[in-house]
Amino acid sequence: MSDVRNVIIIGSGPAGYTAALYTARASLKPLVFEGAVTAGGALMNTTEVENFPGFQDGIMGPELMDNMRGQAERFGAELVPDDVVAVDLSGEIKTVTDTAGTVHRAKAVIVTTGSQHRKLGLPREDALSGRGVSWCATCDGFFFKDQDIAVIGGGDTAMEEATFLSRFAKSVTIVHRRDSLRASKAMQERAFADPKIKFVWDSEVAEIEGDPKLAGLKLRNLKTGEISDLPVTGLFIAIGHDPRTELFKGQLNLDDEGYLKVEAPSTRTNLTGVFGAGDVVDHTYRQAITAAGTGCSAALDAERYLAALA
Ligand code: FAD
Repeated sequence: MSDVRNVIIIGSGPAGYTAALYTARASLKPLVFEGAVTAGGALMNTTEVENFPGFQDGIMGPELMDNMRGQAERFGAELVPDDVVAVDLSGEIKTVTDTAGTVHRAKAVIVTTGSQHRKLGLPREDALSGRGVSWCATCDGFFFKDQDIAVIGGGDTAMEEATFLSRFAKSVTIVHRRDSLRASKAMQERAFADPKIKFVWDSEVAEIEGDPKLAGLKLRNLKTGEISDLPVTGLFIAIGHDPRTELFKGQLNLDDEGYLKVEAPSTRTNLTGVFGAGDVVDHTYRQAITAAGTGCSAALDAERYLAALA
């Protein structure tokens, strides 16, 4: 059986590494499970990040994450590129099991497992991520000034992305599988009233084209089967996110959409000594800086919790 650590952090995006940096600098010697495949989190899949403060000329996503990782390591965070496959968070001593079956014990656990944006599941989708294909208008809209853009989806997020993008774009085409929207009435009306926004109904993306950058889409009409071309240089996929909370079901309180519930503005979950931060909690902002910010809050909450135990 392993020694009891002060704190274990699950996840390695901006929230996890920031929590690691703060707890390491507080001499808590955090153990961080970074994930086996995607250590570094969502920004490992993007190119230029222009909105993380402190980088006047922008920075590539993987480089930003490498810097965060190195900064946490410099102060003594122990980083393990492995997945956590089981947890028991109920007692005073929490247990976390890795893929080799080793059980790690800690007095506090910080959950920063992020959320996965839903994909269309098409061949060129990943290759063109950051090269015309995006999941975040706030992050990337600025790169598409005066360009023709498609937004996929029919819910509130898709309408919000489309109306935000129409500030920059030459045109925004919303492609939706049905003949009516799921979005709230107010969001629909805003989109319908926007002269730059057009709609293609009853249709899905059949093909994403372009190399090395997005050049256009082939759309399939789901009623007639007809294929048409949509020449766009931007594609925003807004069909939802899945928070990575499977591991915590039955232990931590989740909301209707599966996001981790915390006692905001703190990062406390329903179980003492367990804290949550970043996109696994947040369905509103979903930015690297907000994830880093709540990662800091979780570290401070954990620090105070541990101090009170001593
Ligand atoms: P994530 O970054 O998702 O990290 C979660 C980590 O937890 C992952 O590494 C995952 O592998 C790990 N994990 C999950 N489960 C386990 C487990 N069981 N065991 C161990 N590890 C686990 N935001 C901006 O501010 N600016 C941008 O320009 C920008 N561009 C983006 C571009 C793309 C393509 C995407 C997808 C997102 C972008 N974002 C951007 C959003 C930003 O990346 C996220 O808001 C941010 O990464 C969330 O941080 P996080 O730490 O909460 O989670």
